[in-house]
Amino acid sequence: MTDITDHLAEVRDRVRVALAKAGRSSDATKILAVSKGHPPASIEAAYRAGQTDFAESYVQEALTKIEALKALPLVWHFIGRPQANKTRAIAEHFQWVHTVAELKIAERLNAQRPHYAPPLNVLIQVNQAGERQKGGVAPGELRTLAHAVGQLGRLKLRGLMSIPPASSGTKYFDELRALKDALAEEGLSLDALSMGMSADFEEAIAAGATWVRLGTIIFGPRRSH
Ligand SMILES: *Cc1c(COP(=O)(O)O)cnc(C)c1O
Repeated sequence: MTDITDHLAEVRDRVRVALAKAGRSSDATKILAVSKGHPPASIEAAYRAGQTDFAESYVQEALTKIEALKALPLVWHFIGRPQANKTRAIAEHFQWVHTVAELKIAERLNAQRPHYAPPLNVLIQVNQAGERQKGGVAPGELRTLAHAVGQLGRLKLRGLMSIPPASSGTKYFDELRALKDALAEEGLSLDALSMGMSADFEEAIAAGATWVRLGTIIFGPRRSH
C-alpha cells in the first residue's frame, strides 16, 4: 500500500510538470484513479493519500466496492460500456458517466437518476478512429447527440471522452478538444475533456485534458475484474 502512496506522489508531480509546460493552471487537470481489478483496500490506501475520484468499468464489481467503502466521501465515475439493463444502478450509485454514446442510454439515465441526488455528470464518448472494438459515437454524429443530451434535465453534460488508438501522439487529443470547442460555440457549456491514460497522459494534458484516467501507473497490474 505504500507503493500506492508513492505512485500517486510521482504521478501528481508529472501532472504538475505537464501542466506547467503547457502554461495551464496547476489544478486544470484532475487525476481519475481507475480502480477496476483492484480491491477496496487499495482504493482506501489511495484515498488516505489524498485521492478522491475513482473510476470503474464493470457495474457489478463497482457496486460491491462502493458499498464496502460507503463511509468514505469518494466520487465514483463510470467508464465502462453502459448497458441498458445496468443504467438504473449507474444512475443511483455514480456521480459521473464518461461513456455515454447513445441517446437511448442517456434517456434511461435521465429517467432513473434519483430525485434526491444532483444531476448526473455525463461525458459523451467519441470513437475518433472508428475502431469497432471500442464504444463511442462517430464524430459526425456527435453534434446531434450532444444537443439532445444537453436537453435532459437530470443529466449535466460536461464534455467529451475518448480512448484513441495507442501511440498516436497528440492528433486525436487535439481533435477532441476542437470538437468540444465547436460544441461550446454552439452554446453548450462544456468544461470537461477526459483523455489520456497511463501511457500518454502528459500528451493529453498538453492538449487540454481535464481528467486523466490512470490505473496501472497508480495501482500496478490488475488482478481481476
Ligand atoms: C482501464 C481503463 C483505463 C486505465 O488504463 P491504464 O492503462 O491501467 O492506466 C483508462 N480508461 C479506460 C476507459 C479504461 O477502461
